[in-house]
Amino acid sequence: MRPEAAPQAGGLERFASPGKGRGLRARRRFAVGELLFSCPAYAAVLTVSERGGHCDGCFARKEGLSKCGRCKQAFYCNVECQKEDWPMHKLECASMCTFGQNWSPSETVRLTARILAKQRTHPERTHSEKLLAVKEFESHIDKLDNEKRELIQNDIAALHHFYSKHLEYPDNAALVVLFAQIFSSYIDLLYPTEDRNDRLRDSYFFNCDCRECITKEKDKEKLEICKLNDPPSAETVQDMIKYARNVIEEFRRAKHYKSPGELLEICELSLDKMGAVFEDSNVYMLHMMYQAMGVCLYVQDWEGALRYGQKIIRPYSKHYPSYSLNVASMWLKLGRLYMALNNRTAGVKALKRAIAIMEVAHGKDHPYISEIKKELEDH
Ligand SMILES: [Zn+2]
Ligand SMILES: [Zn+2]
Ligand SMILES: [Zn+2]
Repeated sequence: MRPEAAPQAGGLERFASPGKGRGLRARRRFAVGELLFSCPAYAAVLTVSERGGHCDGCFARKEGLSKCGRCKQAFYCNVECQKEDWPMHKLECASMCTFGQNWSPSETVRLTARILAKQRTHPERTHSEKLLAVKEFESHIDKLDNEKRELIQNDIAALHHFYSKHLEYPDNAALVVLFAQIFSSYIDLLYPTEDRNDRLRDSYFFNCDCRECITKEKDKEKLEICKLNDPPSAETVQDMIKYARNVIEEFRRAKHYKSPGELLEICELSLDKMGAVFEDSNVYMLHMMYQAMGVCLYVQDWEGALRYGQKIIRPYSKHYPSYSLNVASMWLKLGRLYMALNNRTAGVKALKRAIAIMEVAHGKDHPYISEIKKELEDH
C-alpha cells in the first residue's frame, strides 16, 4: 500500500490501513458529543418520495413550499433556495416534463448526474473534499463481478436516457469507475458478525478484525433463542437463520413490485415462523418488525406502526451503541405516532428520548432538534 500524505483536520488524521483501505483516526481525546469534523456535501439529492414535504434546495421539512413553475415537481422554501438549486435542478426539470410518468432514474443515477455536473463547474478541490477528494474514492474496479458490472451498465444507460440534454459525459470506462466509486451502503451494526462481514466483503472487499468481530461478543444476544423447556436443536437454529436471511432478501426485492398488503403478509408470516425459534429481541425478528412498521407507516396505519415500534425500541436500545441514530430515529417515530394518536404523555416522553440522543449525535444546535422542540411546544 502506498504511503498517504496525511490530511489532518482538528485532531483527526487520515491513515492507510493495510488490507482495508483508508481510515480516519483521532489524534487526541474527544469528549462525547464533541464535533469531530464537518464539511458541506459534495452533491446531494432529495428522494422522489420526499418531494413536496421537503425543500429540494436546503432539504428543510416544511409545509406550504412553492412549486417550480416549469416542471411543478420540485418544491422550495423561497426564491433563494430555488435559485441556488437551479444548476442541479436544470439537469432534471425539462426532462421530467418530457418523460412525464416515465421519468424514473434511480437515486444513484440522479446523484451521479449531479456529481458529473459539479465536476464540470468545480474542477478544483472543493470545501467538501478537505479530507478526501471525490477522485480519490476507491472503485475496486478490478474486483467487480459480472452482476455488479451489469448493474453499473444499467445505471449508465439510464443516465444517458434521462439526462442527455444538459450533461456532458466522460467515456464509458470513466463512468464505470465513477459508479463503482459511489455506493451508499453503511454496515448496520445491528446484525450478527457473519452478516456484517458478508456485507463488508461484498461492498468493501475486506474482513474486519475489530474486537466485536473477533470475539463475536454480541452475537448471542443478537440471535436470542426462545427459552423453552425443550430448546430447539442447533440444526433447527441454523436452518432458521438461513430462512431469516432469505426472507430478508426476498422482502428487499418484493418491495419494488408488491402491494403493501402483500408485503405486510410476508412480514407477518415470517415473524410467525421465526417466532417459534427466535425471541422478539432477535435481530432477524427486529428486522421484519421494522419492515412491517415501515409498511404500516406507508399506508398510514398509525396503530399498526405503533404496535411494531413499541416492540422494537427496547431491544434496539440494547443492541445498538449509546447515542445511536437508529435508536433516536425510532424514538422520534414513536413520539410522532403517540402525538398523532393523542397520547401526549407518551409522545412527549419519546420525543425527549430522541432529543437526548440527537443532542449528542447531531449536536445541540442542529436544526432537527429545534424542529422537534417546536413540535413539543405546538402539541
Ligand atoms: Zn429551502
Ligand atoms: Zn422544475
Ligand atoms: Zn468489526
